[in-house]
Amino acid sequence: MRHRSRLVPFVAALAALATVAPAVGPAAPALGQAACDPFTAPVFGGTVPTPGDVLGAGIGDHQLSADEIYTYVDAVDAASGRVRTGSYGTTEQGRDLTYAVVGPVGDITDQALADAADAIRTIQDPGTSDDAARALAETTRPFLFIAGNVHGNEESGADAAVKLLWHLADRTDCAARRIRDAATVVILPMQNPDGRELGYRRNANGFDMNRDGQVRTQPEIAGRWELLRQFPPQLFVDAHEFGYYRSFFPPNDDPIYHEASSPVLRWISDRLGPALADLFEQREWRYFNAGGYDFFAPIYGDTTPAFAFQAPGLTLETYSDAPIRLRMRKNFDQFWVLLRTAVDGRVNLLMSQHEAYQEAVRQGRQGLLEPNRVFRPKSHLYQQVPDVRVRNYFLLPTGGDGWALQHVLHLLRDADVEIYRLDRSLRVPDFTPYGGREHATTIPEGAYWIPAAQPQKHWVQAMLNADTYVPVRQTYDITGWSLPLLGDIPGGSSGRAVTPDATPLGGVPDPAWSLDAPAGVDVAIFESTLGVYAFEGARQLSWLMDDVWGVPNQILAPPDIIGGALDDVEVLVMPSGGSISAIRRLGEDGVRELKRWVRNGGHFVGYRYGGTTLAPRIGMSSARIIDSPTGIDEGALVRIELEAGPLRAGVGRDAWTMFDDDDVLLASPGATTASYPGPARFDSSGLVLDIGRLPGSAAIVDEAFGDGRVTVFGADANYRSFTWGTQRILWNAIFGPTPHLERATPHALAAARAAARSSVDAIPEPWRD
Ligand SMILES: [Zn+2]
Repeated sequence: MRHRSRLVPFVAALAALATVAPAVGPAAPALGQAACDPFTAPVFGGTVPTPGDVLGAGIGDHQLSADEIYTYVDAVDAASGRVRTGSYGTTEQGRDLTYAVVGPVGDITDQALADAADAIRTIQDPGTSDDAARALAETTRPFLFIAGNVHGNEESGADAAVKLLWHLADRTDCAARRIRDAATVVILPMQNPDGRELGYRRNANGFDMNRDGQVRTQPEIAGRWELLRQFPPQLFVDAHEFGYYRSFFPPNDDPIYHEASSPVLRWISDRLGPALADLFEQREWRYFNAGGYDFFAPIYGDTTPAFAFQAPGLTLETYSDAPIRLRMRKNFDQFWVLLRTAVDGRVNLLMSQHEAYQEAVRQGRQGLLEPNRVFRPKSHLYQQVPDVRVRNYFLLPTGGDGWALQHVLHLLRDADVEIYRLDRSLRVPDFTPYGGREHATTIPEGAYWIPAAQPQKHWVQAMLNADTYVPVRQTYDITGWSLPLLGDIPGGSSGRAVTPDATPLGGVPDPAWSLDAPAGVDVAIFESTLGVYAFEGARQLSWLMDDVWGVPNQILAPPDIIGGALDDVEVLVMPSGGSISAIRRLGEDGVRELKRWVRNGGHFVGYRYGGTTLAPRIGMSSARIIDSPTGIDEGALVRIELEAGPLRAGVGRDAWTMFDDDDVLLASPGATTASYPGPARFDSSGLVLDIGRLPGSAAIVDEAFGDGRVTVFGADANYRSFTWGTQRILWNAIFGPTPHLERATPHALAAARAAARSSVDAIPEPWRD
């Protein structure tokens, strides 16, 4: 068992508590079977139709279409008692999210699967004795998940998953029986069928399905999550493709999030990763590992099963330019080896979850956070997790209108986090609020208490952390993601043991959006270029308006604007997407039309690289964009302060914005509606190496232009549709009162009209083609 340097002072205490032996030992023999070469010659029973029978071609002969995959999966289901299929959701374009469960005949009925899931929950339960857990593990078949094609244009995982379904359903040789008899294999061949058919990485709503795991906005990921709760996983394999000729598979690279549990990491690095390396050595296929992908943000197909379900999660990457036959074959062989490795060690695998959940409760009871470690020999530790105790989190129902709080409570309960509502106020001597200093306080009755001493301690810490304490100085994606900060929800932590009068919370339904849009405000979204950022920004905003806010909206392209479509619109929102190419596509006619519309009373709202840079470039905003590299390159949460006014409704003075290598804006105090506070109040969550000139600069600039209004956000107000705090500010900007028209003097309004009149409408150099 690995000891962690930070825990050395507590080793004695841990050893006293850990009298139960952790589940480390040699791999258990798989159901008493003799040795069997995993790549023994396949023998088919012939009861299941081959892909050639059904589709007229073998798998790997061509890349299967989504319809071919549905057709073949249905044919296998119809022919085989070892397979049953189901749907875990429906995509934006109406396609089924199909899964297939494979196991012995009689063991995949509803009742048998429910019984197996119950047995696994009993094994995982820290209250189950080690002996009882081990006895149950000996007779329980783990749920092993194989998933493909989460990125729509990374196809071969789906083709390989279909071949896996065929082989597991029909083969009678020892290698197939070994897997089928000892495990329930859950196959998700196409996690993003819309993207597969459209040729997109993203889904049809513009979301990257491998960044949505924390908040689960999309049906593909929300449905997958519920399937994981239904069949508690012991393995989750997520097959991707990338543009490098050597394959990648785990072990992962630094940084690894400190709350990734040791039993999970041990399974990935000591068993599953080496099994894949052996396969690649035998095949003489080229690969790399350890230096590729990190294991940090709780948003991916590998980290979410690991952090929330204590299941080893693996990302596989195969060269996208290889022929489909080769890509498919590499994925298939990797699936096969991973399943076999899990099956051969299945008792240990199940007991490692028992150990992980026991350890989580033990750490939570003591208020211990897991320490940071680096895993590559040449990595340098950037920072250690601070030596603080966290035994409790509190969320306070005092901010905003409560929507974000209810949504966060829903997300936590949907991850089986235990939450209590205080029946009486509670004195807490060491309360550390988000973005504040420790002090004694009284937590009011009605507040929510989330104790760390619970099986989901690691997920509690990952979701409610004030900081992620990134262990090295670079990451692959966002570095700050705290749910309370994303929603500007007041709360904080405490390290003292408390025993409040409190009632456990049952299920929390996902709340409906709490505000009604005023009548007569027609909103359009400007998808300004043909590039991916414009697509992503426009579609994600349209999804927010359709599915969360429930407000009608339309997407406009430059030809629509040139053609006069703005005449029917009150507010035009331009998200990300390059403004230089937007100006090129608008041309002089489009720029003139856009400015005419604002001058005559239209409201232009922009954010990030798109609308925020377009407005000053065409002379509609006084904001200046300066080059001040910040060293916040990977999505950290940074505090902003809002001026008094309508944008603050339901938010308050402080909000948190996702700053992801964004521009620094300068504007006059009169136009600045929100700013990054100066050094005394500057605060962040995530990796911030240099704040450049950010303190004191503008976060939102809101001003009149002619009879209209221009509002620009420096960062993305709808970052992946999970920055609920800045979403609310965006709502206020679109639907709230107009601050400067209410407070402005006649002189100021006259000045705005004069500025708009004198602004030149021609396309500025050097953006003229
Ligand atoms: Zn991918």
